[in-house]
Amino acid sequence: MEKKNNNPRRPAGGQRQNTPRTQPRKLTTVAGKNASRGAAIRAQKRSVEDANRRAGQYLDASAQRVERPKRANVIDDQPRLKVIGLGGMDGGGSKNMLVIEYGNDAIVLDCGNDLGVDLPGINYAIADTTYLDTIKNKIKGFVITHGHLDHIGGLPHILPGINVPVYGSRFTIGRVEEIFENFGLPMPDGFELKTVIMNETTHERLKIGQFFVELVRVTHSIPGSTLVVVDTPVGRIVDTGDFRFDPNPLDHERTDTERLKELGKEGVLLLMSESTTTERPGRTPSESTIEQSFIDIMDGAEGRIFVALFSTNVNRVQMIVNAAVHHGRRIALDGRSLVSTLEMAVRNGFMKIPKGTFVPIASVANMQNQQVVVVCTGSQAESNSALQRMSTGDHKHVKLESKDTVILSSTPIPYTGNDALVRVMVDEFLRKGVHVYRHESYLIDNCGPLHVSGHGSMEEYGEMIDMLKPKFFVPIYGDYTAKKYHIDLAVEHGIPRANTLNSENGQVISLTPKSMQVEGEVPHGTVLVDQTGAIVSTVVVKDRVLLAEEGLVAVVLTIDKKSGQLLTSPDIISRGFIYMKDNEELMNAFRGELRRAVAQRFKRVDLDRFKAELKDYVTHFLYEQTQRSPIVIPVVNVIGGRVEKNGKGIESGQNGQTRSPQELALEQQRRFAQMRQRLLNQDARVD
Ligand SMILES: [Zn+2]
Repeated sequence: MEKKNNNPRRPAGGQRQNTPRTQPRKLTTVAGKNASRGAAIRAQKRSVEDANRRAGQYLDASAQRVERPKRANVIDDQPRLKVIGLGGMDGGGSKNMLVIEYGNDAIVLDCGNDLGVDLPGINYAIADTTYLDTIKNKIKGFVITHGHLDHIGGLPHILPGINVPVYGSRFTIGRVEEIFENFGLPMPDGFELKTVIMNETTHERLKIGQFFVELVRVTHSIPGSTLVVVDTPVGRIVDTGDFRFDPNPLDHERTDTERLKELGKEGVLLLMSESTTTERPGRTPSESTIEQSFIDIMDGAEGRIFVALFSTNVNRVQMIVNAAVHHGRRIALDGRSLVSTLEMAVRNGFMKIPKGTFVPIASVANMQNQQVVVVCTGSQAESNSALQRMSTGDHKHVKLESKDTVILSSTPIPYTGNDALVRVMVDEFLRKGVHVYRHESYLIDNCGPLHVSGHGSMEEYGEMIDMLKPKFFVPIYGDYTAKKYHIDLAVEHGIPRANTLNSENGQVISLTPKSMQVEGEVPHGTVLVDQTGAIVSTVVVKDRVLLAEEGLVAVVLTIDKKSGQLLTSPDIISRGFIYMKDNEELMNAFRGELRRAVAQRFKRVDLDRFKAELKDYVTHFLYEQTQRSPIVIPVVNVIGGRVEKNGKGIESGQNGQTRSPQELALEQQRRFAQMRQRLLNQDARVD
C-alpha cells in the first residue's frame, strides 16, 4: 500500500502540478512582484508548517504548553496517590512509562522506546524525563513488566540520571542487562546497573519505598512476561504489561490465572490494562497452533530453510530448533539482536539446545542444502537485516537459490509502513524462484498458520477485568481509539463508566479509595534519539524535514566594499533542489538577478539588512521560477573593507604586531578563497 500523503500542497503520487520551468520569467511589474512575493512567502510558511507538523508530533516537554497543576480541591491533607503516564498513553503503545507516586516515594513502571518514528536520521524516541527529574529523590526503583524494547528501550538513556535498581523477572533482567551491554554510548561515571530479579512464580512481594510489589506470570511473545501488582497505602494497583491468555504456550508456562482471581478477591483499586488489540473479537489462538505448520513445511522442503522472526520470541525459536533437529537439520543464526538475545536466553536456562545443533552462518555455503535451517532477523524487512540483505543479494554468506524456502513468521507491525517493505522483499524472493511462506497467505499457500499475536483479543481483555474486578479502570499502552474500545469493553464487564478514564500522557490521575480524577498535568513529551544513541533536538529535525521536502540553495557573493561590485561571478550551490546542469537558463537568469540585487541594494543598506533582503529576494525569485521554496542561505563576503574592531580599523595580529588594513584585506581575501574552494570541491553539481 502506498504511504499516506499528508502534504496538502501535493497531489498523491508526489508529483507537483507545476513542474519547474526552465524558461525564466522576467520579474517586471511592481504589482506582479508583490503578488508573487506574497505567494512565495505563503509557500515558505506552508513548508515550515509542514515540517513543524511532522517533527512537532515529537516535541519535548519544554516545547509543550502544560497547564499548571490545578490545586487539589480536597480538604484532607493526606498524601495523594498519583498515577501518571509519561509515555504509552498514545500512539500504538510505545515508549511506555508510568509513574506511581505517594508522599515521598515513587516507582516507575516500564521505560520503553518508540521505534516507529519516521523522521530523517532518527532511530527511535523516548519519553521526556523533565518530570522524573523533578521527583528524582522520590524514585525508589524501576519495575519492568517484560523485556520488549517498547518497555525497556528507554532505560540506558533514563536510568543513569536516576540511578536506582531495576526490578523484573529473570528473563526481563537478562534483557535489561543485554541492552545496556549493547548500548553504543558510554555510561556516565559512577553509574552501575543495579538489578533485582523477582520470582514471578512464587508471588514474592518486595517492599520498594512505601509500596509492595509483586510480579504475576502472564503469557505474551517473550519469556518472563509479567503483570505488576503494586500495593500502595491507598489501595492496590495492577499494570497488566502486555498479555494474552494462551491455554497451551510452547514453554507450558500459562498465565497465573489462579493468582489473578485471588488478587481480584482481595480487592483491586485500579486496573491499568494494555490496549494493543482491543478491536479484535474473540480469542487469540494458542502459540502451539503454529508448531505443526513448521513441521509440515520442513517435511516438504527440498532445499535450505530460512525462518525470519522477532529476535525476542525465544519460545518460537526453541520450537523451530526442535523441528529442525527432528528433521536432521542444523541451525545457523543470523542477525546481531537475535544472536545476542539467544545467548542470554541460553545462559539463563530459557533455551535447551542439543550439542552440535548450531553452526556458524559462514559455514552454510559448504553444507548440504537438506541440512540447513537459518533462523534470522528481518521479518519486518528492516533495512540491513539478515533477510533483507539476502533478498537483495547483498548477504556475505548466503546466496538464495530456487529450491530454498523462506518462512516469514510474523506479520508486518501496523502503522509502520512495514507492509510495503515486506512486500518488496517478498517480490525479490519470488523473482529468484524461492518458495515463500507468509502468515497472511497461508491458506492459499497450503500450509498452516505461521504467526500468532502475543496480545489477547476482546474476550481475553474482558476476562482480565472479570478476574481482577477493579473499582477503577484505566486502559494503557494504546492510542485514544484503542483505549476507548477498551473502556467500552470494561463497561460491558461491569465497570461503571464514571470509574474509567481515557487518560493522556502527562495527566495526573489522583486516587483515593473512593475516587479517581485527573488533577492537572506534568511536563511530558518526546525526545528523539539518532543511530549513535545521542539525543537530537527537534529544531534540527525540523530543518532536516524542510531540507528533505524543499532542498537547499546557498548563494555566495564576493563584493568589493569600496565599489560595491561583485568580484567574482555569484556561486550557487544547490542540494536537493533542482539539478542545476539541467537548468542552465534558469541559473543564468538567477545570476543576473543576483548581480542586479547587488548593484541596486548593496551600497544603500547595511550588511545584515542586505543579507535579509537577499534571502527574501532569492526565495521570491526561485518560487517564481520553480514554485518551490528551498532553504536559502546567503553568504556575503565583503572584501577590502576596514575591519571594525577596537573601533580603530586596525586589528592585532597573532604575534601582537598590528597589521595594516591592506594586509587584513589580503588575509580576508585569502581565507575567503580557501573557503570558496572548499565549498566548490564538495559538490560536483556546483556551477
Ligand atoms: Zn510486549
